[in-house]
Amino acid sequence: TYVVTDACIKCKYMDCVEVCPVDCFYEGENMLVINPNECIDCGVCEPECPAEAILPDTEGGLEKWLELNSTMSANW
Ligand code: SF4
Repeated sequence: TYVVTDACIKCKYMDCVEVCPVDCFYEGENMLVINPNECIDCGVCEPECPAEAILPDTEGGLEKWLELNSTMSANW
């Protein structure tokens, strides 16, 4: 799955939401998050993010963000 990280906080761009083929972006308190159960790992959103806030979870050290994305998107 892809994960939204802290660079997204208060970002006003929604380009990632528009390109996602499965609509798995959700609005968290002050940032967007990706539902890891719905993300199909297509990677289309990553280059669309002007803040470079979206990263694949295969990059190390993102456990905290993955958990946050999971929790914040689970309420829907
Ligand atoms: Fe959506 Fe693809 Fe980005 Fe996953 S990697 S959030 S499916 S655009």
